[in-house]
Amino acid sequence: MKNKNKITLLIFALLMFLPSLASANEFVDDGVIDFGTSADFPPYEYYEGEDIVGIDPDIIKEIGDYLDIEVKIHDMDFNNILASIQSNKLDAGAAGFTVTEERKKSVNFTDTFAKTSQVVLVKKDSQISTIDELRKNKKIGTQLGSIGHTLATDDFGEENVSAFVKVPDAVLALKTGKIDAVIVDKEIAENYKASDDKLGILDKTYVEEEYAIAVNKNNEALLEKLNQAIGELKKDGTIDKIMAKYEGSSELSEGKGLIGRFKATIIDNGGYKYLLDGLKTTIIVTSFALIISFLLGLIIAITRAASEESTNILIKILDKVFALFVTIIRGTPSTIQLLIMFNVILVNLDNLLLVAVLSFALNSSAYMAEIFRGGINAVDKGEKEAARSLGLTYYQTMRKVIMPQAIKNSLPALANEIITLFKETSISGFIGLADLTRGASIVISQTFDAGTAYFSAAIIYLVIVMVMEKIFKKIEKGLQYA
Ligand code: GLN
Repeated sequence: MKNKNKITLLIFALLMFLPSLASANEFVDDGVIDFGTSADFPPYEYYEGEDIVGIDPDIIKEIGDYLDIEVKIHDMDFNNILASIQSNKLDAGAAGFTVTEERKKSVNFTDTFAKTSQVVLVKKDSQISTIDELRKNKKIGTQLGSIGHTLATDDFGEENVSAFVKVPDAVLALKTGKIDAVIVDKEIAENYKASDDKLGILDKTYVEEEYAIAVNKNNEALLEKLNQAIGELKKDGTIDKIMAKYEGSSELSEGKGLIGRFKATIIDNGGYKYLLDGLKTTIIVTSFALIISFLLGLIIAITRAASEESTNILIKILDKVFALFVTIIRGTPSTIQLLIMFNVILVNLDNLLLVAVLSFALNSSAYMAEIFRGGINAVDKGEKEAARSLGLTYYQTMRKVIMPQAIKNSLPALANEIITLFKETSISGFIGLADLTRGASIVISQTFDAGTAYFSAAIIYLVIVMVMEKIFKKIEKGLQYA
């Protein structure tokens, strides 16, 4: 009895001691500070070639140098950054984050390092000249998850405010007259204004605010270190220098007319590089997801078909599990599935490509399973009975008689599913994977020409789908005569 007490005491002591050991002199366990950003926010963060540059990335680099620790920047949708910090996927977020009381409930903020404001971007010929006029049922665009969105819905009513995933999408809606104003951070609005002489900014500022880095709430040590670094970088003038470096907008070649704009945006300003790189990623994700989902779909369908005739308890259990899997996958949006894989199930997997492949593979396998199951059921029952009476085993009947016909039956639906899978990967940007759609967004964040970038991406998708359709038709024809 005595010994048992001693051991319990020892374990308690160890448990209390362990956390202090872990954080004794480390503030990130893997020796790297992982920062999240959304590189569609020039001059704060944007792409230049392959690199993410801007005020925040420069400050992060300086912080890394000062603390003598490796820093990594992960690009993702703005709305996903705070969630990824909370799920411990990221240590911190630097994306022009405005410090707010609401956000302080879920993350810590470093000391602020820049003052800015929310302003109202309008078309120059607009009737709106004061913020009060926005109250007259005007349509206002904001970025999802941004402070501009929260403030605008409070002030002007939810029904008048649209939330766009990206700022460039909101600006495009403004340019095409879908909305009357965009509420966005001052420097970003100024960049847009400089790139398009039809845009203007209201004189009066909407709200004053300050930027800081968001930090995981469980990591006070990191907060302290970052504050120490920011304090020093402020004092020695580094931050001022970085701000000055990014003042004024970048030079872009401009084009008029459809062809002129295409040439300027896609060719002269290098947009094609992002589209082609994105396309490569889209094709890789689709191909691997397809191979996995095809096999998994077959396994699920065959097991479920077998369970109809079998009394084997294992097959019965598998049938129930697969049925539940199919219901869950088909009953939830693929975007949510991708975000759950990224933020919860595969939270420790850093390879975004793999996260996307697995997520789309699982999603598509549920649909494929149902397609194959339909194909199996469509085979004439008499054939199965005939094969069995000829002495073929269940396995032989399935392999030689049922499955070849089932797959043939499934082809049209299968072709549809493969095309859907290919287009579905366009949500990969939600986890920061630079697929074709995300490639178009990157082009927009650099050239501010959303129309041309989206059209170019759409045409690439369309051409590939048309090629796929041709191939499927050929296969179908080939099988018809087989
Ligand atoms: N400053 C705004 C916010 O924190 C917008 C930031 C952003 O879109 N990157 O909500």
